[in-house]
Amino acid sequence: MEKKAAAILAGEEVEEDGDTTRGVFITGQKFRWTNGIVPYEIDPNLPNQKRITDAITHWQEKTSIRFVWRTSSNTSQYPNYIYFKPENGCWSYIGMQGGRQEIGLAEGCSTGSTIHEIGHALGLWHEQSREDRDRNIRIHWENIEDREKPNKKLRNAFKRHKEFFDAQD
Ligand SMILES: [Zn+2]
Repeated sequence: MEKKAAAILAGEEVEEDGDTTRGVFITGQKFRWTNGIVPYEIDPNLPNQKRITDAITHWQEKTSIRFVWRTSSNTSQYPNYIYFKPENGCWSYIGMQGGRQEIGLAEGCSTGSTIHEIGHALGLWHEQSREDRDRNIRIHWENIEDREKPNKKLRNAFKRHKEFFDAQD
């Protein structure tokens, strides 16, 4: 699992099981979390905060990414951070944005959804919007409903990424 975290930091494709590529991270050092450390805060009004701590445990068990609770004593050390807040749907930005960036979690977003949204904040794309996608498939835009189109576009087409497929996880 060291390899996976190293790949995140280097901005390379994540590989497991030899040559099988399992995920693609956003390109660009500015989107990476400094030293693999992700500071975070949780809105006090967010229900079921255990799904967040469980999701963080999941990431820390499987990678060497580390999450640090941001408090009044370390704010100057951690200017860039995730703020989990109650919102409609489950959504995140892709990669580190700089400053405070939010992850929205509706009441129905599960631990699995939270793991998923944290993955986006770390820089992971959905398979259908991977940066190498267009080398492999052709999209028939005329067959896609308008509400689904943002999810099908490539990087930089949108910053805040809302789930269209898996909000019910
Ligand atoms: Zn997603």
